[in-house]
Amino acid sequence: MLTFLRTILDLLYPPFCLGCGTRIRAGDTLCPSCLLDLQPYPLTEEHSARQLGSLHVVCDATLMAVGYEYEEDGVLEHCIRAMKYRQLHEVGAWLGRVLAERLHGTPILEGNPLLLPVPLHGVKRLERGYNQAEMLCRGIAEEAALELDTKLLYRARYTRSQSASKLDRDARQTNILNAFEVRGDMMEANRDRPLLLVDDLITTGATMAECVRVLQEHGARDVRLLALARPPRH
Ligand SMILES: [Zn+2]
Repeated sequence: MLTFLRTILDLLYPPFCLGCGTRIRAGDTLCPSCLLDLQPYPLTEEHSARQLGSLHVVCDATLMAVGYEYEEDGVLEHCIRAMKYRQLHEVGAWLGRVLAERLHGTPILEGNPLLLPVPLHGVKRLERGYNQAEMLCRGIAEEAALELDTKLLYRARYTRSQSASKLDRDARQTNILNAFEVRGDMMEANRDRPLLLVDDLITTGATMAECVRVLQEHGARDVRLLALARPPRH
């Protein structure tokens, strides 16, 4: 029955690659050739240190992994825009699964970390209907058999969009300061567990660093960062 529905849906809404527009298999987002075109970052501990060292802000995270290079007008930008603005929820979960396939056996997944999507403010979530970082987490959780929590860390205050507003570095830092809150009772239950913060795109690291700060303030000992993409020059 499900296969039948899928076939009907495919006829009504044929799936096309978000990179090049060719027909693809149902449930996919990119064709094999566009997927191969993505430039992966190494996922070693050495590269984790390099990524952390190149953040523009002070951040006490223990590990950091980034999936792919983000190029303006590149395939991943199309994917990220699609999941943000075109309501293509499934793109996020698909990208999460693709990313997680590469993460098996890497340090970032050691010790059964709890996945925490960088929260979207309630207003934006209502406008958009979902949080793209959460969709990525759903894909990662499925592929890597990890737990996902969307309540422990939440956005307490409305902030202007980091990317849309042309803020300089200091203004970005002030803009994001105290934007997040942690539910203390839930933190208590997960204090000794590695926490893996997940976002779609990381540039300076201001947003994630602020999440790390507030989690550590509430007693988290091992907070790690995972992003789908980062520009090669940041
Ligand atoms: Zn393609």
